Amino acid sequence: MRCCLECFNCLERERYTEKEVVLGTQPEICEICRKKRRVVYRFVHRQRRDTPADWFRRSK
Ligand SMILES: [Zn+2]
Repeated sequence: MRCCLECFNCLERERYTEKEVVLGTQPEICEICRKKRRVVYRFVHRQRRDTPADWFRRSK
């Protein structure tokens, strides 16, 4: 699962910034809004050890 920071914040009900997460260097299709954007890979600081896939699983 890949999604852009905007959709990720929407899912998590948070306001992470580009400094708090690692974004891909190349734009990819966000699986939520279907726009071509840089997607969230992981957090910069490892406050949480899980991956984006885990966050999505939990949000369902
Ligand atoms: Zn999106």
